[in-house]
Amino acid sequence: MSEQPIDTCMEKIVSLCKRRGFVFQSSEIYGGFNGFWDYGPYGIALKRAVERQWWLYMVEKRNNVVGLDSSIICHPKVWKASGHVDRFGDIMCDCKQCKTRFRVDQMPDPTTCTNCGSKDLTPPREFNLMMKTYVGPVFDEEHIAYLRAETCQPIFLDFHSIRIATRMQLPFGIAQVGKAFRNEITPRMFTFRSREFSQMEMEFFCADEGSMEWFEYWRQERWNFYLNVLKFPVEKLHLHPHDKLAHYAKAAVDIEYEFPFGWGELEGIHHRGTWDMSQHQQFSEQDLQYLDQSNNTRYLPTVVETSVGLDRMVLAILCNAYDEDRAPTQKEGMEDDVRVVLHFPATIAPVQVAFLPLSKKLNQNAQDLQAKFLGRYRTELDVTGNIGKRYRRQDEIGTPYCVTFDFDSLEDNAVTVRERDSMAQERIPIDNLRAYLDEKVLG
Ligand code: ATP
Repeated sequence: MSEQPIDTCMEKIVSLCKRRGFVFQSSEIYGGFNGFWDYGPYGIALKRAVERQWWLYMVEKRNNVVGLDSSIICHPKVWKASGHVDRFGDIMCDCKQCKTRFRVDQMPDPTTCTNCGSKDLTPPREFNLMMKTYVGPVFDEEHIAYLRAETCQPIFLDFHSIRIATRMQLPFGIAQVGKAFRNEITPRMFTFRSREFSQMEMEFFCADEGSMEWFEYWRQERWNFYLNVLKFPVEKLHLHPHDKLAHYAKAAVDIEYEFPFGWGELEGIHHRGTWDMSQHQQFSEQDLQYLDQSNNTRYLPTVVETSVGLDRMVLAILCNAYDEDRAPTQKEGMEDDVRVVLHFPATIAPVQVAFLPLSKKLNQNAQDLQAKFLGRYRTELDVTGNIGKRYRRQDEIGTPYCVTFDFDSLEDNAVTVRERDSMAQERIPIDNLRAYLDEKVLG
């Protein structure tokens, strides 16, 4: 990507996301609602495709990981057991002058307001991030429940039901994708830190012996996902081992990505020991031990977790894909012009193939051709504007292949396929189009 100042680059990405309907602020007509985002047609297509790739990689291509889709609201005791009710908080303070609120751990100097420079700050105080609601007809303390702050807790609760239903034996994993909610003090950096977001988590249950090998295995697998599936350049990623470990953890490492605003955590890989299972065993007063038939012993499974935010991953993909280069133009007096392009891998592009009739008279032909591919790829029929403008539009939404149906197509039964990154064009017989695109798009 061409070098650009941080703010400009991020501003351009945010503005492209809005202009092309990827992501926009929730409740915009009411002035927006901080920390909440809506994904428009291209945004949801991208997000679903990324989630699909994760699920394929983590669940469907393995025989030792199964899926779960649990409720968002669980028994309130779950969050007591997990420690979220008592300890899941950030330390915050307010500037008495300009009224800005800060997370103390994010302030370069915790004695000085980062916004106005004042030293007149409130004393730091703890703030719980759990979002509360009430379940039942009475809105009192007894009926408080919580929106889940992470998707993994229900996995621990359902471990034995899943094990019995599937007859899985250790070691095996349970994966879940779903919404999580955190009352973040300072939602920021577009979707990077939101109050409602989706997580993709996998808890791998194993015996303590050998668990560090599983930790290393999953760290490598997740690293490979960024390189091989999302095609991130290796220099944009790094592994950040945690300096301080939770008392129950044997190891923890974050995979970080270099966003335009700096390095940020994408994913955590955590060795959680038996902590979660033992907490739920204690609070539920149920025996949650596993009977290991291989040696007839009973123990609480040790857990290795991989945990990533889907929205954060999508943001990293957008940042990684964004580029400006030059392309030929039909503008008067100019041979070429700046081209904004999103270099998504074809597997996750919101539109994988666009069909462009060269003239309005060919709209029906292009539409008939598109109809043959509906459901096979994510497609779009793009009929407005001259062909150059349509290519630009497709570049901006990251469409890797544009198929143009022209007047010659009526004669030679062939179409022009234009590739986004090289802008090269190739004439392909319609009879071969499916085989050609399958190889390029489905991989
Ligand atoms: P951070 O330090 O950024 O607050 P965390 O260490 O609390 O994150 P985890 O609780 O480990 O994060 O959550 C796992 C993943 O969920 C993170 O790596 C991130 O991708 C995602 N995530 C966490 N909080 C948010 C948020 N507020 N908005 C978007 N994604 C989030």
